This record gives sequence, C-alpha cells and structure tokens, in this order.
Amino acid sequence: MKSILFKNANLIDVKHRETLQHTDVLVSDGIISDIGSGLSANADETVDASGQFMTPGVIDMHVHSTWNGSPDPVGLDEKEGNYQAFLRSVVHAEKCLRAGVTTIRDVGSPADLAVETAYAVDKGYIKGCRIIPCGAAIQSIYGHVPQVGTIADTDGELQLAIRAKKELFSHKQIKCQWIKIMDTGGAAGLEDVGPSMYSDEQLNLIVKEARRLHMKTAVHAVSREGIIACIKAGIDTIEHGPDIPDEYLDMMKEKNLTLIPTLAIYSILAKSHGIIPDFMVERSEKVSEQQRDTFLRAMKKGVRIALGTDAGSPNFGPQPSAFREMLYMNEYGMPKEDVIASCTLTAAQVLGIDNEIGSLEIGKQADLLLLGENPYENLRAFTDSLVAVYKGGEKA
Ligand SMILES: [Zn+2]
Repeated sequence: MKSILFKNANLIDVKHRETLQHTDVLVSDGIISDIGSGLSANADETVDASGQFMTPGVIDMHVHSTWNGSPDPVGLDEKEGNYQAFLRSVVHAEKCLRAGVTTIRDVGSPADLAVETAYAVDKGYIKGCRIIPCGAAIQSIYGHVPQVGTIADTDGELQLAIRAKKELFSHKQIKCQWIKIMDTGGAAGLEDVGPSMYSDEQLNLIVKEARRLHMKTAVHAVSREGIIACIKAGIDTIEHGPDIPDEYLDMMKEKNLTLIPTLAIYSILAKSHGIIPDFMVERSEKVSEQQRDTFLRAMKKGVRIALGTDAGSPNFGPQPSAFREMLYMNEYGMPKEDVIASCTLTAAQVLGIDNEIGSLEIGKQADLLLLGENPYENLRAFTDSLVAVYKGGEKA
C-alpha cells in the first residue's frame, strides 16, 4: 500500500464552491483517506503543495477519442482504418490524462473501439484517462456520422443493438454503462438536421430497454423537434441541445435530465470558412447562435448542465478540449465556480459515479490536479499553471 501526504494545499471544494486554505490530504492506495490541517502520517511520500491549488480531475462528458481535431477526422479514420484509429484513441487518452482531464465519456467511436481503450486503461496496459465508452452510436440508416455508428431501424434491431452493447460492456468489465444514440442530423453530415430519426415510441423503447439493463442514455440532438422528442422520452443527457423552448427546459428539470451544451465546437465550426465544407459552416452558425440563448435560459432555470466538448471534431484542434469549453461557458454567462463544478462533481453525478470521483472527499479516488493559481479567479489556471496531475493517486 502506497501513501502520499499532500501538505498545505488550497483545496478547491467544488461542492460548496469554496477554497479551503492550509489543507493536508492523505492518499492511501489511490484513495483519499484523510483531509485536515496539520495531518501527520507516516506517508511513503510527502508533497509540499504550499501556495498551490488542488482541484478534482476534470471530466469531459462528450469526446470522440479516435478523432484528432483535424479538418476531417472522420475521413482520416475511414482512410487509415480501425487500427490507426485505435492508436489515436490510445494517444488521446494519454494526452487527456497528462493535461488534467482524468475522465472522459466517449460518445461515438468506429467499431466500438473506445471500449477497447477503456479496457486497456483499466487493466493498466496503457496510461490514460478513465474512459466511459458508449461504443459506436446507435442510429437509423438515415443517421448522423454512420462511420461511428451501429445502424438499427426496427424495434427488434434496436433491442438487439442495445443488448449487444450490454454484452460488450459486461464482457469488457465496463462498470459505468452508457449508450449513445443519434436522433437528429448535425453540422457534419449531408442528412437533414430537422426530423427526429426515431419515432416517439422507439425513443421510449430505447430508454426503457437501456434502463432495464442498468444503462444510461445519451443523445445527439440538434433540431428543436428532435430535442423535444428526446426530452419527452427522458433521455439522460441531451448532447448539444441548442434550441430548447422554456417549457421543455422545465420538463428537463422535472425529469432530472442534463444538458451537455458543447459551445466551443460550434463557435469554431462557424468560423471555419474555407477549412470545412460551406454547409457545415452555415449550419454551425445557426446552432452557435441558438446555443447562446438556450444555454443562458437553461442556466437561469437551474437545468443541470455538465461540461462536454465534442473533442476530436473537425477543426477543433488537438485533444483535450475541456479547458477551452470552460472559457466559453464562462463567456456565455456561467460563473467560474459553476463551470468548475460542471466538469467535476456535476459530471460525476450525471455519470452516476460521484461516490468515486468528482470532488476531493474522503473515500474517493485521488484524481486531482495541482495548480499554481486559483482557478476560481482565473479559469486559465488549468492550462497556464498546471503543476501536476494524479489519477487514482498515481502521478501522470
Ligand atoms: Zn459528438
């Protein structure tokens, strides 16, 4: 059993939006075993964190781990094939970890590849962030980015697709189990953005079947009619969700659903003239405009919001993207304290693993960052003054 004593840190308490000065944190065997001031323990290692700020590791709820953020990451995966895509996923998992993104949810990989990456990280075969993999995203034949899809159209095909994910997750010992569906078109695809690709009855079937098998559901939803259908069906996380009328924000609250806004990517796509196809730029301009409005209204109404980025997407640049998204959320009106909660405790709660990660509390995994500056004062502290990253008590 290895123990580390962090001395005299400024602990960022994301639950109470406070900074606890002169705090010692004892980590035993990867788990936070004590927090206090003046702790004396016979630890194997002592880290002097005087003047530093200790935050939980960052969680990104919407990542495509095989994509590299170039102008055409989907095309690259297709051209080079799944072995190269898988290697990219491995590299990105390590990059995320080293940068302080200690957990990601992968919401769409070709051929379920991210499940393998998650497995390799868990087994310790490779060094990387924790990955909650949805595998390939279930979608209709008229779907969105079918390259990262499992095509399912009839009720029977949907049941089979969902059960096959269950089988895969269980086989690969994935404990936190999520499936992703694509219910509308998006910026990057020739399909119409408009219609809900599944009927109301099928959306209900998806949610029911996933819940019965103890899995949660995420949905790519960009058009208003698709988003509304998914909220009615009670899909746990609405991804992107740029256009939500007030009454459906209220319904999200009632049903305890979460908005994953992905603000940065659409703003960047909207400014990518000449780099990506024109129709993608035009669609993104509209989405980005709608997002500003919906995000503010959702925030004011107290709809649960967790940070997600779409890391790896066209022209987004290298992974990770979480720190950029933080700045956008803040710029669009969310206070810094809430932004930090949205990618730590709130994200962990949404994932259903807040007993393990998401805040610095006794009994949780020691996923933590040491920063040279107070992130409550400057969100850029995460990138500009990162001192060290630990995942499960192990230095990255
Ligand atoms: Zn995405």
